[in-house]
Amino acid sequence: MLAHIHELINKNQGSISLSDFMSSALYHEKYGYYMNKVSIGKDGDFITAPEISQLFGEVIAVWIMNTWEKLGKPPRFSLVELGPGKGTLIHDIIRVTRKYSSFFDSMSLHLIEVSPALRKVQKQTLKDAEVSWHEDIDNLPEQPMIFLANEFFDALPVDQFVYKNGEWYENRITKQGDSNFNFTQFKLVPELAMREKLFDGAVLEMCTARIDMIKKIEEKIHSNKGAALIIDYGYIYPTYKSTLQSIRQHKYTDVLEGIGSSDITTLVDFSALQNALKYTDCEILTQREFLYSFGIKERMQILMKNADNEQKSRILSTFLRLTENMGTLFKVMLLLNI
Ligand code: SAH
Repeated sequence: MLAHIHELINKNQGSISLSDFMSSALYHEKYGYYMNKVSIGKDGDFITAPEISQLFGEVIAVWIMNTWEKLGKPPRFSLVELGPGKGTLIHDIIRVTRKYSSFFDSMSLHLIEVSPALRKVQKQTLKDAEVSWHEDIDNLPEQPMIFLANEFFDALPVDQFVYKNGEWYENRITKQGDSNFNFTQFKLVPELAMREKLFDGAVLEMCTARIDMIKKIEEKIHSNKGAALIIDYGYIYPTYKSTLQSIRQHKYTDVLEGIGSSDITTLVDFSALQNALKYTDCEILTQREFLYSFGIKERMQILMKNADNEQKSRILSTFLRLTENMGTLFKVMLLLNI
């Protein structure tokens, strides 16, 4: 991995953009983070909402069935999940919706996954279900679609720009000695610089991969009808600071160390996603508001009824983790085209 990034830097006159660095660190076909590792879970690097509690998937199942009704109960539609991790969310959705046969029989399941290691886990989790896997969303069947993405957009590579003394700089990656890397700021030529004038030290993060993805999703649900539910940690108003982070075995690490074995992400700029939409109504809520409005409290109370004391305290603590601890940093973007 180090040799590969060194070579990239050499080929590019001594520096590469942050997005090129992230692309290699996460997606390099041999050494990329997502290629080899089962990253999610206690033994991995991070935990996600579907792994915390079944309540998450159950509430999302309610949203999906509600959305299917709004779409006029199409007799065939695709449920498409981007970055399904261990497959737990889809598994929970299948479990809850199976008994509603007119809904269930109209649904076909499509998973978009780059990681061979996670595909293997998904195949095991979903061995009793009919599911197809894809590299990207370009070749999905042309029929109404409902997209799901939980903690998918945060992984897509970003570029970083800094405003200093009235000028724009780009944060790029350079070599430091034979085995280390540095961030170095390069002044942008005026043609490439942002017009906006900010304050000293203000950082902007831009992610063309996210914009391309949301546009593609919008095209799909515009031409076929459909909806999308995008959940991630992120903000609506700009933070003007770096949100780049790297996590390994549940601890923050240096982004430029352990490359290929740590999860590198940034917060998602939800207003940038919203601004990229052309035809679609969009709503952005906190995860807390979303989970409450689709019945997490009622669902939790039902689970409590049949639980012993130990289970009760676990249900309560995972409920609070989803609605309180993660409740406001995580946002939910809802798109609907009917
Ligand atoms: N949604 C899951 C996993 C989140 S981790 C959960 O909530 O538990 C991010 C997931 O996205 C992983 O499955 C990862 O392999 C996948 N992924 C990351 N970048 C991708 C890309 N560009 N295309 C397809 N899948 C990607």
